[in-house]
Amino acid sequence: MKHTYSHNSVTDSDFTLNAILDLIVEGTWDWNGETGHVTRSPGWYRMLGYEVGIFQENVFTWENIIHPDDYKRVMAHFEQYITGKSTQYLIEYRCRKSDGSYLWIVDRAKILAYKDDGTVSRMVGAHHNIDNKKRAEEEVSKLNKLLQQGNMSLDNLIKINAKELEKKNQELEEKIKEVALLSDIDPLTSIANRRSFERELSKEVLRSRRYHHPLSLAIFDIDLFKNINDSYGHKKGDLILQKLCQLISANIRELDCFARWGGEEFVLIFPELTLEKALIATEKLRTTISRYEIEPNLFITCSFGVTECTDEDTIEDLFQRIDESLYQAKSKGRNRIGSL
Ligand code: GH3
Ligand code: MG
Ligand code: MG
Repeated sequence: MKHTYSHNSVTDSDFTLNAILDLIVEGTWDWNGETGHVTRSPGWYRMLGYEVGIFQENVFTWENIIHPDDYKRVMAHFEQYITGKSTQYLIEYRCRKSDGSYLWIVDRAKILAYKDDGTVSRMVGAHHNIDNKKRAEEEVSKLNKLLQQGNMSLDNLIKINAKELEKKNQELEEKIKEVALLSDIDPLTSIANRRSFERELSKEVLRSRRYHHPLSLAIFDIDLFKNINDSYGHKKGDLILQKLCQLISANIRELDCFARWGGEEFVLIFPELTLEKALIATEKLRTTISRYEIEPNLFITCSFGVTECTDEDTIEDLFQRIDESLYQAKSKGRNRIGSL
C-alpha cells in the first residue's frame, strides 16, 4: 500500500484522516469485528441525504437501509468474502435515502485484520454513488426491450401488410383484366381497339349482305416508324400515334369505324363505300397525313391497303386481302395505297 502521509503523532494523522473523510463525497465505513462497531464517514450520510452521524454505529444501520430485493444477495456476497470463499468484496445494490427513494451504490471493501480464530476483526469499505449509471442502464435496457417488441410487431405488421397487399394486387390485376376485356378503347390513342373493331366488322359485314350495300375496309401503317422512334424517342413516338389518331378521327365520317389494329397499324371500316369511293377517302387521308406538321419539321407518311367486301368473303379473306394490299403499297415505295 502506498503511504500518502507520514505523521509524527496519532493526533496529526487523526486530523488529516478526518479532514479527508469530511471532504470526500464517497461514503466510507470501518467495521470492527470484535465490538460490532461501525464508523461511517460524513460522505456516507450525505450521499444518502441523512444528517451526519444520525444512525447507530452498528451493522444493523447498514442492513436496515439495503433494498429488500437486494438484501439476500448482498448478505450472501458479504458472507462469501468474510469466510474466504471469495477473494473480493465488490457489489452493486440499492440503499434507502432519507426521502425513502433508493440510491444505487457500489460497495467495495477489504479485510484489514483477523481474530485468532480466523474470523474478521476489521474491515473497511467505501460506497460509491452509481445511481446515474444504473438509471441510464435501466433506461437503455427498457428501450431495448421496447425496441425488440416494437421490431417484432413491426415485422408482423409488415408480413400481414405484405399478404394483404398481395391479395389486393391480385384482385386489382383481375379487375384490370376484366375491365380491359370489357373495354373497347385503346388506352394510348383512345380510339377503338382491335377487339371492338372485329365485333364492328362482323356486324357491318352482316348488314351489308342483308341490305346489299357496299362495304370497304382499309388498313394503314406508319412508314418507317422505327426510324422515328429511334430519332425522336419512344415517348415522342407515342405522341405521334395519339396525334395521328386525332387527325384521322377528325377526317372521317361519323359512321366510319376507326380502330388501332396494333402497334402503328390502324384499320378503317367504310360502310356504304365501294372500293372506288374508299380509295378516294383513303387518298384524302393519306395526303392529309403527309401534309400534317406534327411539330415544326416533323412529318410522317402512311401506307394504305384497301379492299371491298364481297358476298363470299369471310373475315379472314378480308384481312388477308388488306394485308396483301398494304404490302403492295409498302413494297412500291410507301406513302401510297395498295388495293385488291
Ligand atoms: P415500315 O415502313 O415498313 O412499316 O417500317 P416501320 O419501321 O414502321 O415498320 P416496323 O413494323 O418494322 O416497325 C414498327 C415500329 O413501330 C416498331 C415499334 O417500335 C413501333 N411501335 C409499335 N407500337 C408502338 C407504340 O405504341 N409506341 C411507339 N412509340 N412505337 C411503337
Ligand atoms: Mg407495322
Ligand atoms: Mg410501319
